[in-house]
Amino acid sequence: MTESKALHGKVALVTGGARGIGRAIALGLGAAGADVAVADLRLEPFRGERWFRLRERWSGDDEETPTAAAARALGVRACQVAMDVAEEASVLAGIAQVESELGPIDILVNNAGIVNNIASIEEMSAEAWEQEIRVNLTGGFHCVKAAVPSMAERGWGRVVNIASVAAVQPPLGQPAYAASKAAVVSFTRAVAQEFGPRGVTANAILPGLIGTPLVLSMPARIRERSVEGIPVQRLGEPADIANLAVFLASPASGFVTATAIPCDGGWLGAPLGGLGD
Ligand code: NAD
Repeated sequence: MTESKALHGKVALVTGGARGIGRAIALGLGAAGADVAVADLRLEPFRGERWFRLRERWSGDDEETPTAAAARALGVRACQVAMDVAEEASVLAGIAQVESELGPIDILVNNAGIVNNIASIEEMSAEAWEQEIRVNLTGGFHCVKAAVPSMAERGWGRVVNIASVAAVQPPLGQPAYAASKAAVVSFTRAVAQEFGPRGVTANAILPGLIGTPLVLSMPARIRERSVEGIPVQRLGEPADIANLAVFLASPASGFVTATAIPCDGGWLGAPLGGLGD
């Protein structure tokens, strides 16, 4: 019981928390006792036609209830803020709102991210490149700059950045995404270096293929082939990422910093294949 409430009294901000992995992390932090602020471009769960088609195959929670309301049902305080992480003014306004509603932020999870464009380098426009870098990399910079100095002043804080296995193994057709995620890993180390002496740790998680609606919308044949290369032989669940994020956000992880931890069913470390046939 003590373990499950390890984050009681802490305030956490999760960007991109309206759905998918960010939602699972926000609810995981709430279940561990943290008060939770959910920041996203939109405040309601995603309601596209495609989402309804995918629901049958969606093995996570059904995302019917907005994340902040679902967190409150866990018995913690929660709020939601509209925020575009790519815009510094929006981040500053959103963080001011969180601080006034919940108090100073102790745990920052930079999860908001996009794959804007599937294109070769030759085909990719400079604008599409810029947009992915602005959301995936600069977004995290804006949030760290706005939230972490206050953690350092108070002598305790946690930053968890959601990168991707693409940081190490760039998928074909996602050059900006892969480059942005590799830069997130490097930025994570810079945060750990600068703020570590003042009690703040920073770590990156490298999710593998996680069964969010985004991934479930891939053609079944491609998905199944991808699963064949994963030692544990399944897609990840958002909760797999949330479990690791909650640990990295907790006091128990105080000697873990500046790391980039794959959470990918073994895909990067021990890929299957090449054994005969
Ligand atoms: P998702 O698209 O389901 O959710 C992302 C959320 O971020 C959405 O709610 C979206 O509105 C929000 N968002 C997008 N741009 C934003 C912005 N500018 N400001 C604020 N919020 C914004 O994605 P997901 O699959 O849950 O992925 C979450 C994170 O995990 C991303 O950083 C992604 O790159 C990373 N990731 C996902 C996978 C996977 O297999 N799903 C694998 C590796 C890494």
